[in-house]
Amino acid sequence: MPELPEVETIKRVIEPQIQGLIIDQVNVKRPEVVAYPSSDEFCGRLAGQTVSHMARRGKFLIIQLNSGDRIILHLRMTGCLLLTPADYPEEKHTHIIFKLSTGKELRFSDMRRFGRFWLLAKDEADPYSGVEKLGIEPLRSELTAEYLCTRLGKRKKAIKECLLDQSVVAGIGNIYSDEILFTAGIYPARPAGSLNREEWKRLASIIPERISYFIETNAITPEEYLETKGQDYRNTPFLQVYGQAGKPCPKCGQALCRMVIGGRSSVYCSACQP
Ligand SMILES: [Zn+2]
Repeated sequence: MPELPEVETIKRVIEPQIQGLIIDQVNVKRPEVVAYPSSDEFCGRLAGQTVSHMARRGKFLIIQLNSGDRIILHLRMTGCLLLTPADYPEEKHTHIIFKLSTGKELRFSDMRRFGRFWLLAKDEADPYSGVEKLGIEPLRSELTAEYLCTRLGKRKKAIKECLLDQSVVAGIGNIYSDEILFTAGIYPARPAGSLNREEWKRLASIIPERISYFIETNAITPEEYLETKGQDYRNTPFLQVYGQAGKPCPKCGQALCRMVIGGRSSVYCSACQP
């Protein structure tokens, strides 16, 4: 599932290409992909609107329109956004096509079909998408040792599970929680409540450092992005532990271990993360 660095990459690739364009027409092939309002209303209200800019919040993408309306999108497991020429071969499982004023198309495909769109009017409250329940952004200055300790310091759950809680820090998933805890030298199954002051401080500095690093290593041109159908995450070779169970730890050389925490596979080094 794309996490914050991947979603940020998509925003950086797509945004400059759609800014200022008019949505001429929207074609929804799978109505269930539009969670709110109805897919008919979604298409009707978007036709003729102009794209102002894009934003990202946690793992959500937001397409802001000049009218003040906003499209919210969550890619979930396999959702993919592509900006293509009109005659570009259509991906399998393409569920929504936005026809744009340049003749290009913004297409949403999703094999597993868990990805969802919402359309909110200017100033309309959003109890639907979950964006308003998100915690702080990891790259904002609100992320401090005090914040983490206040929100998580009394929890009995594993620190790994707590880092996945989108209502505390938004955008971290299974991949980057493993990477963050490895860099911090913290055993992923430790109850959050057992972390000391120094460890919260370490996490507060390592979370933004790792997330920024993986956004940078993920950088891709629009041409490369289209060529690889938005599925080439360039930062994969830079991952130190995620998906590397059994391979030598990049710090000490001992074989990396795998365990399941809260139903999620976790990779760590038993020597570096005691
Ligand atoms: Zn190690």
